[in-house]
Amino acid sequence: MNTYEDVPPVLTIVVPCYNEEEVLPETIGRLSKVLDGLIRERLIAEESTVLFVDDGSRDRTWDIIVQYNQSNPYVTGLKLAHNAGHQSALLAGLMKAKQTSDCVISIDADLQDDVDVIREFILKFHEGYEVVYGVRRSRATDTAFKRSTALWFYRLMQWMGVDIVYNHADYRLTSKRVLDNLENFKEVNLFLRGIIPLIGFKSTEVYYDRHERFAGESKYPLKKMLSFAFDGITSFSVTPIRLVTVAGFLFFLISILAGVYVLVDKLQGDTVSGWASLMISIWFIGGIQLLSLGLIGEYIGKIYKEVKRRPLYIVEEELSSIRSAARERVRV
Ligand code: UDP
Ligand code: MG
Repeated sequence: MNTYEDVPPVLTIVVPCYNEEEVLPETIGRLSKVLDGLIRERLIAEESTVLFVDDGSRDRTWDIIVQYNQSNPYVTGLKLAHNAGHQSALLAGLMKAKQTSDCVISIDADLQDDVDVIREFILKFHEGYEVVYGVRRSRATDTAFKRSTALWFYRLMQWMGVDIVYNHADYRLTSKRVLDNLENFKEVNLFLRGIIPLIGFKSTEVYYDRHERFAGESKYPLKKMLSFAFDGITSFSVTPIRLVTVAGFLFFLISILAGVYVLVDKLQGDTVSGWASLMISIWFIGGIQLLSLGLIGEYIGKIYKEVKRRPLYIVEEELSSIRSAARERVRV
């Protein structure tokens, strides 16, 4: 149970940004307004901030963060040295934010998620929830293609036994305690949506309507989306490997039947007529073998990556709030 009646909790909102120059000024404005309101209501502490993680953007994203950092006390920044990807950028922000906060909310830079729900997140946190999932009520603003692929993705994940919250992306509140535990998950193939439910603690859901992107284009083209979905499945489930085993077993049974058939055929003296079925089976088995090898290789590839223990992100520069007595620009 959190007892924040006298001293309100410190909140940090973490926003991963990749080439978001078009939306950032608006995002900063809206989030600052939300923080203003919550501080006035004494729901969060005055030291609460928004941490913008620049994920190796090639546009003016970092310049904008630096510029606002000089005038807006809520704005803090973290610049990654290269494009680490959405999940890694988010993790970088969460790990930095937890050092100074009681709770952390992650949200995309593009204002697709309703910022007014942040107040409900905080109220739930006051009630003692340590994880609050933001869940989309409808996906009316997404394209039909994105909607149906997303639905299939959730179904597939569920079928494979991966516990994820339906229609929840990375808009959520987590307590410092949850983040401390997240730090112990050392995996390189990051799929935060799958890891957070694994950590546990008291959790709840808050519903909201998702808007269209405020400006700019999606930074998740089909290729990135597919590889994200594939990562989600292979990092959490061994079902694909089991399917290969089941398929292998089935083909073994079929090959016995085929063997009997070929023998009978041969005893009857029709040797030449077996050529077609032989060719077909060679191709078929060859295909299955390749598929199996590919899948096994996928897992071995993952083991390889985990074994290397490479850092997921590298911090280049940090900006703290101008509120901090001596404002320092730390170079790491
Ligand atoms: N993003 C990031 N690194 C990347 C790709 C995306 O930090 O390599 C950020 C992006 O700036 C945004 C969030 O991740 O804040 C979600 O991306 P986007 O809105 O483009 O995805 P979509 O909503 O279209 O799935
Ligand atoms: Mg978006």
